[in-house]
Amino acid sequence: MGKVTGFLEIDRQVAKYQPASDRIRHFKEFVIPMSDSEISKQAARCMDCGIPYCHGPTGCPVHNQIPDWNDLVYSDNWDEAIRNLHSTNNFPEFTGRICPAPCEEACTLNLEDAPVAIKTIEQAIADKAYERGFIVPQPASRKTGKKVAVIGSGPAGLAAAQQLGRAGHEVHVYEREDKPGGLLRYGIPDFKMEKHFIDRRVEQMSGEGVTFFCGVNVGVDKKVEDLRAEYDAVLYAGGSETSRDAGIPGVELHGVHDAMPYLVQQNKRVARRNIDSIGWPSEPIVAGAKHVVVVGGGDTASDCVGTAFRQGAVRVTQLDIRPRPPEKEDKLAVWPFWATKMRTSSSQAEGAEREFQVGTLEFVGEDGKLTGVKCCQVDEKRNPIAGSEFVIKADLAFIAIGFRGPFEDSVVSELEGQLKIGKDRRGATFVEANDQDYRTSVDKVWAAGDVRRGQSLVVWAIREGRQAARAIDLDLMGATILPR
Ligand code: FAD
Repeated sequence: MGKVTGFLEIDRQVAKYQPASDRIRHFKEFVIPMSDSEISKQAARCMDCGIPYCHGPTGCPVHNQIPDWNDLVYSDNWDEAIRNLHSTNNFPEFTGRICPAPCEEACTLNLEDAPVAIKTIEQAIADKAYERGFIVPQPASRKTGKKVAVIGSGPAGLAAAQQLGRAGHEVHVYEREDKPGGLLRYGIPDFKMEKHFIDRRVEQMSGEGVTFFCGVNVGVDKKVEDLRAEYDAVLYAGGSETSRDAGIPGVELHGVHDAMPYLVQQNKRVARRNIDSIGWPSEPIVAGAKHVVVVGGGDTASDCVGTAFRQGAVRVTQLDIRPRPPEKEDKLAVWPFWATKMRTSSSQAEGAEREFQVGTLEFVGEDGKLTGVKCCQVDEKRNPIAGSEFVIKADLAFIAIGFRGPFEDSVVSELEGQLKIGKDRRGATFVEANDQDYRTSVDKVWAAGDVRRGQSLVVWAIREGRQAARAIDLDLMGATILPR
């Protein structure tokens, strides 16, 4: 344990951001890193409380051993800290940047609203490891002779591929986009995570013997049937990117778009790639000089807000059907604590006007073009309040109200009738496989990540990828060296 009295003496501090007026001028990350000594002081606040909620069931999904690496950072043992962190998380530089940090919510010090700055410390450990050259390929010392195909290279597919490669299997990753990374690359904007972090991991994994085949849409360019014949196991980690149907009149107006093509296009522009994507219209969507309305309150909506500001939108209004979060975090308030903690992003602080408890009634327009969004106030049960209607001027609107399952995906189409598909209570579909063995209803096909659990978090995708890799290794070898 670090400093016994650290939590009594040191205030919580997290990394600061560039001012909004500066950061909206570019698409790069805007977090100002803390010095080593500041990070060490923050790590000293961890009192190793003996109640490991931070890495327990309500905390970190990959069960990072947080008190251990806080102690290592406090004692300036960064080498051991990254080794420890890597033992549970393949990609701490991703989660250190974009995880909403359920660990901090679960931290004992959060009883006084000042949890240990776990996320900031995690990012610092990962960045330091790269800086010092600790992150190098770790090829398996022996090969098993077994071959595994992974469909999809988001965090679930990448984590599984790395684990399977390290277990000695020959791993081939198939990705329909032109580069690996899944939503990390083309969904989540660069200002939340720059893409060179993915490139470095892909380089490390290639050095470990994992082979990437990009631009291959499985089910079309390569049949699942062929993969099943060629490989000992196939892991389907195709994500869940089909947007939920808003059912709002006027969606056909020019200027109304789903959030995903907008975000994907901008990520591709920043990467200087062609903006086309399979399944989405390639008409360029840009918010410069426009009045923008974003419908929805989650990560995707926030990312649209931040992207619109960076493109030079005149005004951005975000509509959220949920009630306004309390000014001060109040754990007994109706609005769940995690919602204020985890779902209010830096993008809103860039100048968005937020409307709470507002329902979207209709997109209105003239000559086929969007001119406004008709809304109304709703009550606690989300019913419209009579007479509360109003119209917000808009020439661009994004719908970001969630996802309804796997992309109208060619894997799902090819396996129609064989692959068991479930439905959650909101009607979203997912590929059925339990979270013990990750097996689907199709022989030799496993599933992990959003395609199995529905739209979730990067950290859950990493966990599922690791667990599915373990299940596959166990099945192929009769025993496994991969950790739970
Ligand atoms: P994905 O990342 O979706 O990757 C699936 C991959 O499979 C894709 O690359 C796809 O092209 C490929 N694929 C699919 N079908 C085929 C096929 N037939 N052939 C070949 N390839 C195929 N989570 C957080 O923790 N923090 C955040 O800040 C955050 N922000 C988000 C912002 C947005 C806009 C979105 C949409 C999600 C966000 N999330 C965030 C959620 C997070 O990105 C996902 O939960 C996570 O990426 C899921 O990982 P995955 O590997 O299961 O799927």
